[in-house]
Amino acid sequence: MRPQRGAQLESVGVPTIGATDVLVRVRAASICGTDLHIYGWDRWSASRIHPPLTFGHEFCGVVEKVGDEVTTIRSGDFVTAEMHVNCGHCRPCRMGQPHVCQNVKILGIDADGCFAEFVRIPARNVWKVDPAIPEHYAAIMDPLGNAVHTALAGEIAGLNVLVTGAGPIGLMSIAVARASGCATLFATEVNAHRRELAKKMGADEALDPSQGDVVKHVLDATDGAGVDVMLEMSGHPDAIHKGFQMLRPGGRASLLGIPKDPVTLDLVNDVIFKGATVQGIYGRRMFETWVQMTELLRHGRLNLEPLFKERMPLEKFDDAFALLESGQAGKVLFYPNGSAK
Ligand code: NAD
Ligand code: ZN
Repeated sequence: MRPQRGAQLESVGVPTIGATDVLVRVRAASICGTDLHIYGWDRWSASRIHPPLTFGHEFCGVVEKVGDEVTTIRSGDFVTAEMHVNCGHCRPCRMGQPHVCQNVKILGIDADGCFAEFVRIPARNVWKVDPAIPEHYAAIMDPLGNAVHTALAGEIAGLNVLVTGAGPIGLMSIAVARASGCATLFATEVNAHRRELAKKMGADEALDPSQGDVVKHVLDATDGAGVDVMLEMSGHPDAIHKGFQMLRPGGRASLLGIPKDPVTLDLVNDVIFKGATVQGIYGRRMFETWVQMTELLRHGRLNLEPLFKERMPLEKFDDAFALLESGQAGKVLFYPNGSAK
């Protein structure tokens, strides 16, 4: 890709691998919201991305070749990967929190990613996919991991949950919260198509925050208390404000959505007097989230089918990005090495 809106399909060499790397032949890749930013070449992309770059970080594939020192992965293994490559040396890494590594490099953002026939991954970031997990689910374990990390960052069983923003990750978090035994699940979403999907994924109520008083509605529905858990999946200031108003005293707010600009909060009423627990959620815990996600998937606990509509060859990437920019698609899958089964 180049420093401008759009992307180009170009012939590049097969990546060469080092002793601790793995070369994966990409089977299916999926577009993340971040890829939309890169494709749109917004302010963030211009400051972070150094083209030429093969972008893309959600995928699954088959191992083609492994470096000399790799012992745990073999060619032929069906894999996906944690694309946040941590340094292992900084203070958070040393303290068991590599998901907030200070020197993280993200494949598909800071180095070449998976919108290609082949991708190179450090072996320790490769995740072998359990054979019980379908291929199209394996391709989206990266964003599903965001949803699992957020939903399971505190208690959830038997609790009333609010998901603000039903984009792909919000939708997946609804399925995870349901599978984890939550009580009533409310979703707020401004897009009608996504409200429909939220219901399909298991939300009891999918509310339009631009119509009527959603805060009053949720407070009334929870005997005036508010929800026990709020999973913020929109990054929109209005959703964040309303979400905190719907959170009960003593509740947990787990924030994954990334606002474009700084957001003001009523700390006194929404956090301090409420005794709320507020968590920033970044990436996936390495590799606790991957273990939890694998268990949920291999036991068939998550029905993510409503998310999948479109499957395309890589050449049709412009159509795929247009579809996603319109907000009418869930996850779009690319097949760089041949068409979908
Ligand atoms: P998305 O943009 O597709 O979804 C956001 C949804 O929020 C959209 O459906 C949008 O219609 C909805 N929305 C907008 N305003 C709203 C409002 N006022 N009330 C309720 N809903 C509203 O994004 P996604 O791919 O599902 O990702 C969710 C968020 O998480 C994004 O902000 C993304 O940047 C962020 N993200 C964070 C991490 C992390 O590690 N923290 C990782 C991946 C994505
Ligand atoms: Zn580190």
